[in-house]
Amino acid sequence: FKTTTMNALLSVSDKTGIVEFAQALHALGIKLLSTGGTAKLLADKGLPVTEVAEVTQFPEMLDGRVKTLHPKVHGGLLARRELPEHMAALKQHGIDTIDLLVVNLYPFEATVAKAGCTLADAIENIDIGGPAMVRSAAKNWKDVGVITSADQYEAVLAELKATQGQGSCKLSDKLRFALSIAAFNRIAQYDGAISDYLSSVTFEEEKLSETYVPQRALFPGQSNGIFTKVQDLRYGENSHQQAALYRDLYPAPGSLVTGVQLQGKELSYNNIADADAAWECVKSFEAAACVIVKHANPCGVAVGLDALSSYSKAFQTDPTSAFGGIIAFNRVVDGPAAQQVSKQFVEVLMAPEFTAEALEIFKSKVNVRLLKIALPAHGGKTDWERGRNAMDAKRIGSGLLLQTADNHELSLADLKVVTKKQPTLEEMEDLLFAWKVAKYVKSNAIVFCKGGMTMGVGAGQMSRLDSARIASIKAQHAGLTLQGTAVASDAFFPFRDGLDVVVDAGATCVIQPGGSMRDQEVIDAANERGVAMVFSGVRHFRH
Ligand code: 5GP
Repeated sequence: FKTTTMNALLSVSDKTGIVEFAQALHALGIKLLSTGGTAKLLADKGLPVTEVAEVTQFPEMLDGRVKTLHPKVHGGLLARRELPEHMAALKQHGIDTIDLLVVNLYPFEATVAKAGCTLADAIENIDIGGPAMVRSAAKNWKDVGVITSADQYEAVLAELKATQGQGSCKLSDKLRFALSIAAFNRIAQYDGAISDYLSSVTFEEEKLSETYVPQRALFPGQSNGIFTKVQDLRYGENSHQQAALYRDLYPAPGSLVTGVQLQGKELSYNNIADADAAWECVKSFEAAACVIVKHANPCGVAVGLDALSSYSKAFQTDPTSAFGGIIAFNRVVDGPAAQQVSKQFVEVLMAPEFTAEALEIFKSKVNVRLLKIALPAHGGKTDWERGRNAMDAKRIGSGLLLQTADNHELSLADLKVVTKKQPTLEEMEDLLFAWKVAKYVKSNAIVFCKGGMTMGVGAGQMSRLDSARIASIKAQHAGLTLQGTAVASDAFFPFRDGLDVVVDAGATCVIQPGGSMRDQEVIDAANERGVAMVFSGVRHFRH
């Protein structure tokens, strides 16, 4: 190696395009230096290539863990060409400069994404020497061009070729600087993937060599929240805001971000937020259910025999609000259901499956965004397998609030009847249905239900009393009677007035967490009005 010409070191795991690139470098008179596998490939293609081991006078060792970690390599990358003392040091130690570095890393991300990846596989795929060289070259961007992805080959070659006529090949400061930034981005992403994967491993000594299925860490302290970008969005909540969609590195099965869009316009920021609210709610039902969402709140939820019957009931709750709604099903959408739904204006429609007939019907409705999302497998053992999201995040000014997701499910044993009157079996079913829905309604939430459908939803008011009044007014507007309904309140009634409003509206049974200082006042009121009341012992604030 002579310092007068340009020297390139090539060491790549993904060998796509490397032969052609090396041939082009060779044609430009650039000397090629390379590691084991890459060197062999290039030599097989008849290229003159020097092995790094020959330069370092040190064999690759420890199964490739140590290949390029040597002063002859890092000296050549890090020396500042304009400093005489740096160049003198190179000379003294017989080190040649390396002016172009071409590295892509061991495929860590692809390895851990494979089913059946063990911790040992993952660890073996953590590249050490590659990132070290990339950092050296990227730090010394003024003198070294660093290529970390095959899609950079073209731009680099173009500049090299353009400068060839001027005596020697050279890259511009601008390109070298851009390559340096891209290199540090790549390293950050790579280390992020490693850190995220390892953070999600539950440490069980005996299992470390077994097949390991990545699971999200369950507590904020264990999750470093690595997200990958899915797509840029046209704009955010409003047109003057920029936005993008990111998803967890390991999304829970059956979460919205695992879905595929079958047709329709691009999803907007608000579409995605509402679709998530609808999907999370519908996912929580075992029976065939339909959820219609507007502005992040359910405006109709029902269970039925199939998609059609659940939709017809859900739509009745609030036909006015359902216009332009986001609709989610947890059953296959067939022809009859599609026929009925396509009579209304729909923004987004989600289901685990659509029949060919249904797809045909929506074909003419080109604006309807259809999303197919697989439901999580039944009977999963862990929350993750059951499609439960591990974390919930909320952005605040210059900060982030993180919590574990609200995955609480009520069991019959948690329920406590606190009134003289016991709810009938039918009432109990309606109470449990109402409670399930209330969890997905913004606080303060008051939800009237009967016969497996919502009859009135009061959402997002600053006073529980107003939510109760609104739910009842909306039922009236929809032409529904609240006589004999079950009501859920997402948090306790602080006074008896809220209870009086729902009973005045026609409710005969109520479910609420209890726990207020004035529980007795509210229980007395329920007894006085002759309604049944059940305490759930848990609340579902949703802000
Ligand atoms: P090759 O197929 O040429 O034998 O190996 C290429 C891969 O080795 C590249 O992904 C490169 O990042 C990686 N690599 C280069 N030097 C070292 C090293 O010293 N240690 C480790 N672990 N990987 C290296």
